[in-house]
Amino acid sequence: MRSREQLERIILRMMNKGISWTHDTLNFWLGCDKVSEECLHCYIYRVLRKFGLKAWGDVVKAKSTWGKSYIWEEYFSEYCPNEYMRMFTCSLSDFFHKKADKWRPMAWATIQNTPHCVYLILTKRPERILKHLPADWGEGYPNVWIGCSIGSNKTVYRADVLRKIPAAIRFLSCEPLIEDIADKLDLTGIQWVIAGGESGEGKEYLYDPKKDWRKMDGETGRRTMDLRWAYKLYMKANDAGVPFFFKQVTSARSGQGADKLTGQVIHEFPAPPNGGVWWTPPAEESVQRPAEELVQITGGIA
Ligand code: SF4
Repeated sequence: MRSREQLERIILRMMNKGISWTHDTLNFWLGCDKVSEECLHCYIYRVLRKFGLKAWGDVVKAKSTWGKSYIWEEYFSEYCPNEYMRMFTCSLSDFFHKKADKWRPMAWATIQNTPHCVYLILTKRPERILKHLPADWGEGYPNVWIGCSIGSNKTVYRADVLRKIPAAIRFLSCEPLIEDIADKLDLTGIQWVIAGGESGEGKEYLYDPKKDWRKMDGETGRRTMDLRWAYKLYMKANDAGVPFFFKQVTSARSGQGADKLTGQVIHEFPAPPNGGVWWTPPAEESVQRPAEELVQITGGIA
């Protein structure tokens, strides 16, 4: 059996720490197709091209990331059974993409076998969710949160689709927030809201709903988020008693200006399952990393 320290070394090594609302990411498959204006400047090609993969058109099964959850599960079940981690699922694809239908049952099995990982499944294809849930889903697995992305008024309808899905937690990622959606958005049945501006290279510009985003495909840039739009969402979530997470302002680099909404970082979360608590990573300097123990776990793409 591996010691707590061994597992912590492995976990700190394999974690993707780049997204502030999750502890780690897991991609059962890689690649996607753009479906709406929020996708226009999607970042996944920047990551996938480093691995010689195409971002668009193909969806390929990841070779070696599937074991990641089991390392987390071993750690929690052996050493801290009351703690849970958040796993953003398919950060380089879409969990409900049609081209992944054949692998999804295997992914559900992994999810079910690793109950200390809380899978944050965020999709832009909410209309496909209901037909692609596992047979024993019931009111939802306790360790699965289902969310959809809504950044513009044209996609606010996704919240109506989502609220009909049984799930432990339903959430919205209003990122990139490219226009004021607060008046149109209904938070009934929603238990968590994330908001943030777009990041990416190139020029910053204002979103124009009259322009066809498909004709702009391939252009770089980032669309301005007015902080007042995010603040309206924050107030709306507050009024509804819904935890709110402000991720970032519009910026070339992601993760900038997390305190710009109110002067304080607002990073609220729903509670984990079973009365548990969220895991806090140990300080990196407190965990020694002998090179020989840095085993190959994820194969590079997390
Ligand atoms: S659905 Fe997500 S991963 Fe797919 S193209 Fe759109 S933003 Fe990118």
